[in-house]
Amino acid sequence: MASQDPRTKFSNKDFPKQEQPVPGLQNKLEPKPDCGETSYIGYGRLKDYKMLVTGGDSAIGRAAAIAYAKEGADVAINYLPEEQQDAEEVQQVIEAAGRKAVLIPGDIRNEQFNYDLVEAAYKALGGLDNVTIVAGHQQYRDNIKGFDTASFSETFETNVYPIFWTVQKAIDYLQAGATITLTSSVQGYHPSPILHDYAASKAAIISLTKSLSEELGERGIRVNCIAPGPFWSPLQISGGQPQSKIPNFGQKEVMGRAGQPVELSGTYVHLAAEESSYTTGQVYGVTGGTQLD
Ligand code: NAD
Ligand code: MG
Repeated sequence: MASQDPRTKFSNKDFPKQEQPVPGLQNKLEPKPDCGETSYIGYGRLKDYKMLVTGGDSAIGRAAAIAYAKEGADVAINYLPEEQQDAEEVQQVIEAAGRKAVLIPGDIRNEQFNYDLVEAAYKALGGLDNVTIVAGHQQYRDNIKGFDTASFSETFETNVYPIFWTVQKAIDYLQAGATITLTSSVQGYHPSPILHDYAASKAAIISLTKSLSEELGERGIRVNCIAPGPFWSPLQISGGQPQSKIPNFGQKEVMGRAGQPVELSGTYVHLAAEESSYTTGQVYGVTGGTQLD
């Protein structure tokens, strides 16, 4: 296919205002994000790999899970029990690609669940080549006084603690050549004052990418991170942004629009595939134009 104009490849029109409780569901989101269900084409870059993706039911995690399967991998996904329907949609796409899908619902704020999740994925898949951590929590507050202990604890317990727990367990299974892919945000570099806790948690993920890559590099395990800009997803309309920011979400980027999750698929695949064998400790920005620095 010939190249397409990135400004108009996906809609740059206003999004309709809409609100959902946490966790937002993709099957109730309008318009539906493009997670590569039909648009992503695989080329066997992850043939027979075994992958675990947290947050794999919707938006960015769904795009990673689908791309991995279309590249030839078997994929276990984790999500919250309330997201079962979204997860089953992903299962259908993975199975239609001829690969194994393993659904493991559960709350990653629970320490023991993380160990059980990694073990269950390893056993069900018969191995583990990559752990991709996409699950995240984002709730805006009007100002610093709005960040009560319960809310900033939930943000860190969801976004940061599970990285320790999943990696601690995963290194019992990951062999040299395996990879870990984390998900930060442009917020980790350019923090917004309505997202003090979320932005700080995403900066912590950048730090962990660097420190983990040094320790695990000695075992031949690569650790990298993706920092997305504004992507259309259930997270944004379930308290991730004020409603007033939903219609124009992403429009101030150089591309003039929000990203669609499938526009991250190739980067997740690249960081898990052999082609990136000399890349570790790096953060890849996929931001629509905002520069990481
Ligand atoms: P999303 O709502 O589709 O994904 C978030 C996922 O996190 C949910 O599907 C849910 O399964 C999981 N999750 C949340 N709390 C959990 C818990 N306690 N236990 C288990 N799973 C839990 O939205 P998304 O935008 O695709 O977000 C995915 C990741 O991308 C998040 O880490 C987010 O911070 C990051 N991100 C998103 C954007 C964006 O603009 N959408 C930008 C930068 C970074
Ligand atoms: Mg979800």
